[in-house]
Amino acid sequence: MARCIGSVCRLCRRENQKLFLKGDRCYTEKCSFERRGYPPGQHGQGRIKFSEYGLQLREKQKIKRIYGMLEGQFRNLFEKAERMKGVTGSNLLSMLERRLDNVAYRSGFANSRNEARHLVRHGHFTVNGRRVDVPSFLVGKGDVVEVREKSKGVARIGGALEAVKRREIPQWLELDSAAMKARVRDLPARDDVTAPMEERLVVELYSK
Ligand code: SF4
Repeated sequence: MARCIGSVCRLCRRENQKLFLKGDRCYTEKCSFERRGYPPGQHGQGRIKFSEYGLQLREKQKIKRIYGMLEGQFRNLFEKAERMKGVTGSNLLSMLERRLDNVAYRSGFANSRNEARHLVRHGHFTVNGRRVDVPSFLVGKGDVVEVREKSKGVARIGGALEAVKRREIPQWLELDSAAMKARVRDLPARDDVTAPMEERLVVELYSK
C-alpha cells in the first residue's frame, strides 16, 4: 500500500476514531472528526456492519495508520513480534512505541508522528550522542534521544515543545525540555499505549 497523499482526516473518519495525524489541528474544533464523525463517502452516514474479517482488517489498518507505516514494514514488525518471547500483540505495540519517530513525537519534539518522521529523516536527533536518521530505529531502555545541538533553533521543534502541554508524556519517557532531550526510563508495556487498540484482531488477521 502506498502512503496516503490525500486528506489524512479521512483516515480518522474511516477508522471512526481520532488518530491525531495532523498535529495541532487535532486538538482544536477544526478537527474534521469532531465536525463530521462518520465515515467519508456517499454511504458514510448509513449503517455499516462488518464481518469478522472486516473488523480485523479495519483494526490493522487503524494501528498501521496511527504509526504511519506501510503494509510491508508493518508485516515485518509483526513477524518480529511473533518470534519474540511473550504475547505477540503486546510485543508488536511495544515495538511500535519504541520507533524513533514515535519517541520523538511522544516526547514532544514534534506535533505529529508524520512531522517527527520528517525531522528524524533530516537528521535532527541523536541517540546516545550518535546521529540517527532512521525513523524505524528502535530505542532501548536507558537510551537518550536528544535534539542535535545545531537543530535546537529549529522552529518546528521549539513550537512543538511549547504545545506539548496539551499532551501527556508517557511514564516510560522522561523529558528534559530545557535540554531538549528525553530518556527511555523503561521499555513501553501494553498499558502504556493509551489509544484504543485491539491488537488481538491484528494477530488473528495475520494468523489466518
Ligand atoms: Fe484526525 Fe487530526 Fe484530522 Fe481530527 S484533525 S480528523 S484527529 S487528523
